[in-house]
Amino acid sequence: MPYPLDVLHATFGFTQFRGVQAEVVGRVLAGERTLAVMPTGAGKSLTYQLPSVMLEGTCVVVSPLIALMHDQLRAAEAVGIRAATLTSADSNRAETIDRFRAGTLDLLYIAPERASTGYFRELLGSAPLCLFAIDEAHCVSEWGHDFRPDYRLLKPLLDQFPSVPRLALTATADAHTRADILDQLGIPAEGLIVAGFDRPNIRYAITPRDNTTRQIMDVIAEADGPGIVYAQTRAGTEKLAEALAASGRPTRAYHAGLDPAVRAANQAAFVASEDMVMAATVAFGMGIDKPDVRFVAHAGLPKSIEAYYQETGRAGRDGDPAVAHMFWGADDLARARQRIAEVEPHRRAGEQARLAALAGLVETAECRRAVLLRYFGENPPAQCGNCDNCLKPPATVDATVVAQKYLSA
Ligand code: ADP
Ligand code: MG
Repeated sequence: MPYPLDVLHATFGFTQFRGVQAEVVGRVLAGERTLAVMPTGAGKSLTYQLPSVMLEGTCVVVSPLIALMHDQLRAAEAVGIRAATLTSADSNRAETIDRFRAGTLDLLYIAPERASTGYFRELLGSAPLCLFAIDEAHCVSEWGHDFRPDYRLLKPLLDQFPSVPRLALTATADAHTRADILDQLGIPAEGLIVAGFDRPNIRYAITPRDNTTRQIMDVIAEADGPGIVYAQTRAGTEKLAEALAASGRPTRAYHAGLDPAVRAANQAAFVASEDMVMAATVAFGMGIDKPDVRFVAHAGLPKSIEAYYQETGRAGRDGDPAVAHMFWGADDLARARQRIAEVEPHRRAGEQARLAALAGLVETAECRRAVLLRYFGENPPAQCGNCDNCLKPPATVDATVVAQKYLSA
């Protein structure tokens, strides 16, 4: 068998593993069951793609969205991995099944609803398998934010093939969801691997709202480079884009209600720009790879800590200093509570816990980064030195300093 690092070079053209990738790949190659929690963009796909190239037989990848599968398929084929999808949308089913049975596929992407069919179980039994990869594994948890009942059918299916290793992958899992994933997919607690979520070059600041436009103008004035302002409504993005033009920066709006051609043009203009301010709904950012975004401002409370992490994570991908500044009001929290009262009862506890965690982050006098990273299961230092609370400690601390000066005078 070749060395993983050789395959990393030869097939993927990368010089080294990133973060926990090597550890995850090592466990997979050793046949162990694993849950990898890695932030978006950390390179989760590689952790099953690489073993699929190295091992005999096919890696079956469970993925919740057909669009996602097709992106993955194109990317895999682009580097010469033998991959196929098996979905209701495919016209080449017979050919795919032949390749699968013949053991000439590295990857087979399937939707979770396949898992329940007897036909598919038999098909799996008739093909050489090397790995089950369960992408977006938080979908298996009712506690998670994106529960997909079909994911619950996976464990009985996987249990039919107890010797085939399992790799569950997710970017978004608080402690409760993680425990649930381990349980629902039959992965031992020691199989949990959590990647580093820290983005040390992002300076976090969270401020109560008074005049949002003026506050965001201040962020723009201090940030030298392009930025994204997240508004909560479509109309809000257009109003902000108009108001923020007074900053002298080029500004545009982006939301799902815009004409597709306008949306695409605005996105392209932003990607090409060195100083544009994009006022957008959360529809903006997914799949946009712009390394030099210098600030992300939230004109209101994001949906969850996961969403906040994801959205602020679009700043500073080049590693240079960047700012994430959120402006929020008590009315945001009240609206969020109202929204939770309307969700289905079985999801309420999870939503309430997520909102409580978010409220904890915005209201804390502690280091923001420490609170954020602890949420993702890390054990960070108490002070990061690069968030509003570390840089400008709350009044009580100032008072002590003043008192000390007074006493030593
Ligand atoms: P995730 O699913 O965790 O969000 P992806 O698997 O889509 O992330 O990978 C994100 C990007 O990182 C991809 O462009 C991928 O090619 C790249 N990537 C993955 N691993 C490495 C590596 N070891 N070195 C360099 N780039 C990598
Ligand atoms: Mg992924």
